[in-house]
Amino acid sequence: MAKQDGITVKKNENFSEWFTQVIQKAELADLRYNVKGFLVFQPWSVLSMEKMYHFLETTLQKKGHMPHWFPTLIPEHNLKQESSHLGGFAPEVFWVTHTGDKKLDEKLALRPTSETALYQMFKLWIRSHNDLPYKTYQRAQVFRCDTKATRPFLRSREFHWIETHCAHKTEEDAFNQVKEDMETTEEVLHDIFGIPYIFFERPAWDKFPGAARTFAADALNPDGKVIQQPSTHMISKQFTKAFDVKFKDSDEKEKYAHLTCYGPAVSRIFASVIITHGDDKGLRFPWDIAPTQVMIVPIDKKLHKKAETLKKQIQKFASVNIDLSDKRPGEKFNHWEMKGIPIRIDIGLKDLENKTVTIFRRDTNKKETVSEKEAITKIKEIAQEFTKNLIKKADKVFEGRIKETKNLQEIKKVIKEGSIAKCEFCSVDKPGTECAKKIEKEIVAEVRGTRLDEKQKPQGKCAICGKKANHIVYIAKSY
Ligand SMILES: [Zn+2]
Repeated sequence: MAKQDGITVKKNENFSEWFTQVIQKAELADLRYNVKGFLVFQPWSVLSMEKMYHFLETTLQKKGHMPHWFPTLIPEHNLKQESSHLGGFAPEVFWVTHTGDKKLDEKLALRPTSETALYQMFKLWIRSHNDLPYKTYQRAQVFRCDTKATRPFLRSREFHWIETHCAHKTEEDAFNQVKEDMETTEEVLHDIFGIPYIFFERPAWDKFPGAARTFAADALNPDGKVIQQPSTHMISKQFTKAFDVKFKDSDEKEKYAHLTCYGPAVSRIFASVIITHGDDKGLRFPWDIAPTQVMIVPIDKKLHKKAETLKKQIQKFASVNIDLSDKRPGEKFNHWEMKGIPIRIDIGLKDLENKTVTIFRRDTNKKETVSEKEAITKIKEIAQEFTKNLIKKADKVFEGRIKETKNLQEIKKVIKEGSIAKCEFCSVDKPGTECAKKIEKEIVAEVRGTRLDEKQKPQGKCAICGKKANHIVYIAKSY
C-alpha cells in the first residue's frame, strides 16, 4: 500500500490532523460542498448513523416518546415569544426572507431547535392532566450558524439530531424525565456506542437559553478538550408561560405544565465514536453500529466459492461482504482496518488445503487461524466480546484523565496535560462568579458543572478563592 493511502499521523501526537485524515480517507464526509460549514455525509458514515438513530429511537419509543415530524421553518414571532431563548440563538439563526422575488411579511427561521415550534402545538394539544406526561420526539436537521471554527461532525452549521420535548404535571415529574434522559444516554451512548462521558449540571451562567436547569454530557478528546454530547433541560416557568402551555388538573384548577427537552445530536455523537475508538490505523466501529460487521477477503479467485459458502453462514447473524477487488492482499487488509470493520476473515490458498480460515479482529488487532468448523462459533464469540472490549479500553483512558486538584496551579497543570480537573468550588448558583472568570482568563478553561451522582462532598475551601466550598466541580477546555 502506498504510504499516503493510510493514516500518516499518530492519533495522540497530532489529533487534529488524524481526525481530518480519518474523515477523508475512510470516506465519511466530503468537505468540498460549496456552502461554508456544511458537509456531504458519505455512505460509510450514513450507514453507521442510521443504526445509531435506530438505537436511540427505539429506546425513546420504549420509554413512551411518540414520533412527530415538525416543519423546518419557524416564524420569527415564535422565536421572539420568549426573549432569553431568542437572545441565546439570535446570532446563529439562518433566516428565510423571500419567496422568489417577493419579500415575506414575516421572516422564517430555519429551526435552530424546535421548542418554539412544539410549544405552540402543545398549547393546542394538551388539555387535561390525563394528557400528561406528553412525550414526543423527532429526528431532524437543525441549523446554527456557529461563529466558532467549524469542524466536520463536531461542529457543523447543519446537524442531524433527535430532539425530545415533553410536558409533565409536576416539577418532580420533569426532574425524573431529566434522569430518564440521562439513563437513555447511558444505555445507548455508553453501552452500545461505547462513549465514556460525565453528565454535569451546568453552572447558572452556562444554561440553555430558556432553561431553568441544564444537564449535559461531556466526552473528552485526545487534545484535552471536552465536547458536549446530549443535553437535557428543565424549561423555565417564564418560557412555559410565554407559550401558555396549561392543563386542567384533577382538582379542576388550570396549571402550567413542566416542560423538558433532550437533544442527542447523532452527527456529533458519531464524531465521538470516531474519536473514542479510532487508533493509528483508522476507525474502529462498535459491533452494533458498524456499517458492515464482517469482511471476507479471499486472496485468490480459486477461493471465491469458499468465501461464498462462509458468507451464507455468517449472513444469518451479522452483516457481511466479500472483497472481490483486484487490490493486493496487503492493500485490502489495510483498507478494511482503516474503515473500522470489526472482523475480517482472510482466506489463502493454504487455508483451502488445510480447511482453515484466518480471523482478524479489530478490537485487539490480532489474527488467529481456526478450522472451518470452528469459524462460525469463533466469530459469534468475538461479536459478543467486541464492544465490551472497546468500552473497557475507552473507560480506562477516560477515568485516567480525571484528576483531583487543590489550587489554581494544580488545575493549570492538569488542564495543560489534557485532562479534566476536579476541585472544590465556592458557587455555581449565580452568574458572574469571580472564580469562574479567573479560570476562564488564566487557564482558558471552563467550569463544566457539578454531578448529580457525585460521591464526594465538599469539605474544604474553594480551590480558587479559598472561601468555603459548596460544590465539587469539574474544569476543562472545550471547543
Ligand atoms: Zn471561589
